[in-house]
Amino acid sequence: MIRIRGLHKSFGGLEVLKGIDLAVERGQVVCVIGPSGSGKSTLLRCVNLLEEPTSGSVTVGGAEVTDPDVDIDRVRRRIGMVFQAFNLFPHLTALENLTIAQRRVLRRDKAEAVRIGRDTLRRVGLTDKETAYPAQLSGGQQQRVAIARALAMDPDLMLFDEPTSALDPELVGDVLAVMRALADEGMTMLVVTHEMSFAREVADRVVFMDDGVIVEEGGPEQVVAAPRHPRTRAFLTRVL
Ligand code: ADP
Ligand code: MG
Repeated sequence: MIRIRGLHKSFGGLEVLKGIDLAVERGQVVCVIGPSGSGKSTLLRCVNLLEEPTSGSVTVGGAEVTDPDVDIDRVRRRIGMVFQAFNLFPHLTALENLTIAQRRVLRRDKAEAVRIGRDTLRRVGLTDKETAYPAQLSGGQQQRVAIARALAMDPDLMLFDEPTSALDPELVGDVLAVMRALADEGMTMLVVTHEMSFAREVADRVVFMDDGVIVEEGGPEQVVAAPRHPRTRAFLTRVL
């Protein structure tokens, strides 16, 4: 579903990604862990071309996103992205936040967008919040609306960039539960997270990044539970 080869990204003179190779198969959950500033967000943003790679190739579902001739909007439509900040429209209800992109981007009619919107709100456990505005929802509920908004677009792939980092600790569990259910349903997911228990229990593979390179990669029982590289060990000692 995702194939990244020799990916480099610089901002001016600062090289942030220094040759990343990574593959995510359909239905796999890959968690990316690593210290702040190591290039995790930039890596995710290169997958849907929110950042343009300096060199290397990124293919998503067989489409080369780095090919200048690719229809990037078409590729992006198949990728759901959830950020640390929820980015909901404050003047729209939860349900309206879910229907607007369906109608504008996918050209679904109102009845269909509402039906799919309600169905998706149910999947994230927010059936009773359909008419609530973002300010009337907790952070965890807002993040679940943001996940539902992405799911309503029928993505082939979901990217998560520290989706629980802005939440109060007691709200983290509900969001992780939704992500876990999504993984169980077979969604392909690339997840940047500091939640090591989520990585250990849900990830098929864990990737440890430091300073723009993948230092260590493998099953969670290896990378999280028995890291080989001293940099991975040092990082895990700090976060666990
Ligand atoms: P992480 O998500 O692992 O914390 P990031 O990918 O956000 O790391 O950032 C990696 C490095 O790239 C940091 O040094 C950051 O300051 C820098 N960086 C990220 N985005 C930009 C940008 N748009 N312009 C300049 N520097 C950036
Ligand atoms: Mg980041």
